[in-house]
Amino acid sequence: MSNLKKETEIQFSELISEVKNCKKCPRMCDSERVLGPASGSLNAKVLFIGEAPGRLGADESQIPFHGDKSGHNFEALLEQVQLSRYELFVTNAVLCNPRDEKGNNATPTTTEIKNCANFLKKQIELVDPQIVVTLGGTALKACSLVEEHNLELKAQVRTSNKWLNRILIPAYHPGQRAMIHRSFPNQLSDYQYISEQAKRNGKNKVKSISSISSKGTKELVEEITSRNSDLSYFALHKLFFMVEAKAIDELGSRLTDSYIIRQKDGPYCVDLHPKKLNFLGLQLSTYTRNHNLYIRRNSTKSLFSENNFNAPQIALIDSVMKKYGHLADADLKRVAYCTSAMRSMLRKEKELGLNLFNAPLLNP
Ligand code: SF4
Repeated sequence: MSNLKKETEIQFSELISEVKNCKKCPRMCDSERVLGPASGSLNAKVLFIGEAPGRLGADESQIPFHGDKSGHNFEALLEQVQLSRYELFVTNAVLCNPRDEKGNNATPTTTEIKNCANFLKKQIELVDPQIVVTLGGTALKACSLVEEHNLELKAQVRTSNKWLNRILIPAYHPGQRAMIHRSFPNQLSDYQYISEQAKRNGKNKVKSISSISSKGTKELVEEITSRNSDLSYFALHKLFFMVEAKAIDELGSRLTDSYIIRQKDGPYCVDLHPKKLNFLGLQLSTYTRNHNLYIRRNSTKSLFSENNFNAPQIALIDSVMKKYGHLADADLKRVAYCTSAMRSMLRKEKELGLNLFNAPLLNP
């Protein structure tokens, strides 16, 4: 690790501790703080700012914009314009989940946004992105507390504006409520614009997913579930990871562009969230056994008319499934921890003196 990179990581971990100890907002004093390795790359050229972690999304998953409807929409928009989370940093105007007296998501107050503005400023300074994208009016307002601007969401949506020595692009929030004001197809055009700006700007241009890999998540899930049609949700994640880790070691590159992170129980593939499995179009169903989630494939037929992977890739999938496909969850976890990717993550944790739960793995 270069000294500069290490210094940035140390500063980021100091910021995480500062945020963790923050008690500025009385109604969120004891809330989880959504800032950590899952926020994204500290080298990101594009930094997205949302409103606040959602109760069923980031507050639960600890991954900004992941796990609820807003998160699914956000991830679908990124995927469609081929922007990879590996290359982004995602945060919120306030880092805790504001709730009303009934326990539902609430809009952060002006005071709460002000309270958190200094943390937002520090994140922007640390990541130093070329482009900042605000998702919704609250994020745009929060930016004006970091550095004054006169931008208005409705008037300046999908425009590039000079701000804080970088470009600020206002966009709408990807939540269902905001879709009333800006439909999904319109938001998709906004993300297309953001993606084009990201690729055009700067020396270290943002790679698109298509330049990382031409194969997708669902094709690999298809290959795994066609070899084991009834497996635990845990096993699906670990087998998916094992294929990808082995592909890097033996073939020199990954088979998919899926975003994989390190969680307490080992590798977790963000694109395989239970709610997303239905949308893969693979006729998968989920059921619970002994309090654990299982995946069942309801069709034995191949769902693709052509081969999605070449012969060496298929041979690799075969070998991983033969070797590990029958293992119990505990054994699969042990095997995943023995991969070079997990071992180097554990070494890094030791070096930095902190756990890196939710940090990206197998960065393409
Ligand atoms: S929202 Fe920000 S300022 Fe408020 S308590 Fe959480 S971390 Fe502190």
